[in-house]
Amino acid sequence: MSLQSTFAIIKPDAVSDGNTGKIIAAIEENGFRIAAMKKIHLSQAQAGGFYAVHKERPFFGELVEFMTEGPVVCMILEKEDAIKAWRDLMGATNPEQAAEGTLRKLYGANIGRNATHGSDAEDTAAFETAFFFSNLEHC
Ligand code: ATP
Ligand code: MG
Repeated sequence: MSLQSTFAIIKPDAVSDGNTGKIIAAIEENGFRIAAMKKIHLSQAQAGGFYAVHKERPFFGELVEFMTEGPVVCMILEKEDAIKAWRDLMGATNPEQAAEGTLRKLYGANIGRNATHGSDAEDTAAFETAFFFSNLEHC
């Protein structure tokens, strides 16, 4: 295992519910280093580009609507084995199936409104990081 980075989003539901601070606290308490962070309100084109891998899925329109309904907080997180570690802290995609104590269990409402995003592999982490952050924004 070596130091790895992953890309994370606090989704619009968690931001509007006032859970940004609690999620950032959990990130730091679980040993991640926040290498970059910003709050933005995505356009439909930006959200669609980010989730382009899902564009043929039946829930794509709903997903784009949700991701653009309010601001999100985007981060680059660093830790040993960060991609898996962040997905473990988030829990299962569907909050009803997520383990107790995970962020989606704590702050997600349903499979569509599930509080957080995390990259699922090194190639998607690289794509998603470059989609949101320039090299000048990592520190
Ligand atoms: P994310 O990519 O957001 O971290 P994930 O990797 O756990 O989530 P994906 O299969 O990549 O799950 O789905 C991307 C997002 O699309 C989910 O987080 C969820 O918000 C939404 N989504 C997935 N499946 C459904 C569904 N059946 N109905 C509605 N929305 C869904
Ligand atoms: Mg995914």
